[in-house]
Amino acid sequence: MKQTEITIDEVIKSFKNPPNHDGEKLVRNAFEFAHKAHGDQKRASGMPYIHHPLSTAKILATIGMDARTVAAGLLHDVPEDTSETLSTISKKFGPDISQMVEGITKLGRIKLRGTKEEHKLENWRRMFLAMGADIRTVIIKLADRLHNMQTLEHLRPDKRIRIANETMEIYVPIANRLGIGEIRSELADLSFMYLQPEEYKKAKLLSEEKLKEKELYVDKAIIEIEQSLKNEGIHAKDIHGRAKNIQSLHMKLQKHDMDINRVFDLIAVRVIVKDVAECYETLGIVHKKYRPMIGRIKDYISLPKPNGYQSIHTTVFGPDGRVMEIQIRTQKMHDEAEFGIAAHWLYETKKKKGWRSYFLPKETEVDKKEVEWVKQLQEWQEDLGNNPEEFMEGLKVDFLKNHIFAFTPLGDIIELPEGASVIDFAYAIHTDVGHTATGAKIDGKMSSLDSVVRNGQIIEIIKDKNRPSPNADWLNFVKTSHAKSAIRRAVNKENT
Ligand code: MN
Repeated sequence: MKQTEITIDEVIKSFKNPPNHDGEKLVRNAFEFAHKAHGDQKRASGMPYIHHPLSTAKILATIGMDARTVAAGLLHDVPEDTSETLSTISKKFGPDISQMVEGITKLGRIKLRGTKEEHKLENWRRMFLAMGADIRTVIIKLADRLHNMQTLEHLRPDKRIRIANETMEIYVPIANRLGIGEIRSELADLSFMYLQPEEYKKAKLLSEEKLKEKELYVDKAIIEIEQSLKNEGIHAKDIHGRAKNIQSLHMKLQKHDMDINRVFDLIAVRVIVKDVAECYETLGIVHKKYRPMIGRIKDYISLPKPNGYQSIHTTVFGPDGRVMEIQIRTQKMHDEAEFGIAAHWLYETKKKKGWRSYFLPKETEVDKKEVEWVKQLQEWQEDLGNNPEEFMEGLKVDFLKNHIFAFTPLGDIIELPEGASVIDFAYAIHTDVGHTATGAKIDGKMSSLDSVVRNGQIIEIIKDKNRPSPNADWLNFVKTSHAKSAIRRAVNKENT
């Protein structure tokens, strides 16, 4: 990937959500300060160092973040790499920005020791703790990592592998979790390219060949769909084709014996319409025009993915009977899919509505477990109103308050409601782990099964395979419905 010089004017121009006069001034001041502080430092590529914070800032502006976050992006390497200190940043730019910069500095500073699994675990732990403090810090870190991945070729081969690995294991899932599809895909493709160059080349080549062949009838479908919608009085805001990213394609190919003809969503036609009602109307119109493939309609509007993703997907026999996927969504859902949690900042100022208004339709019947996370967000947003300061405060206080993350010794994350016990943790891993649990080690210390799990703890469940059945007393302290029903089922079976 070529590194190109970029300017502060380009950063200003790339704001998806253009700042007011003061906001622009703040961003320009942050640039001047960072520029001076980094002086004539150079990146491994030989480029002036300032292009790295500029690129990070540009990514943040592009995904819809506000002026303050972009300013923090410009300043993110100043305390670590220059003689200017955090207290100077705090004096010049205020505590909000300096705290974001401090968060990023902390995320990068801790030296890692131990095994690879321990690294992974520690990384996760740090990211979640940072997320609890200020989610903007994590978003800046993602933008920082994206630019580092874009310029990875300038590093030594062993460093490339280490960083690509870390990106795939930590940053890709976090971008996914926050729903920032744009960053997730690019990070995944770049990591994949360095980690499995041969497979990357193969998938890329396959994709390019197939796309060339598909292009013609995708264009045809776009025109036909637009016309059919017009006939029914619907004016699509946008219809475009979008190819699947290389790494996701590779994953799918592996599932389908490398047969690209079985990957139905290699290229999807995206139809963006005005509102939810029009989404369903559009689905009907598309199915009238093209025969749908049985069992391939996915309604993520009434059943959003756990990260909040919404759209209707359907696979149809398009022009010339060619199979293709159609994705139908509103503009808000689209921005949400591309920019995830960052879309909040975009809509906060554009409309005086909380993001929950487009996160979930109000009266949906959704699988509870699937959207618990989204619902948590929804609930506190409801209580918080629409003030950005309150929103931030809410993220700090409530995001992790109602929700904790603990880890297995292998680094798997177990998500639990606040107040959950070790037994909830055990059942969350697997029903059998719950049934046979006799004790636990929390952060290496022996603990009882009714201990309350705290955020960030590493928990090892001690099992006894000969244990006859779970203890009915556990019902007095378990919090999750999953654990409760599993215990009840086992206890009832015992008594009959
Ligand atoms: Mn950096």
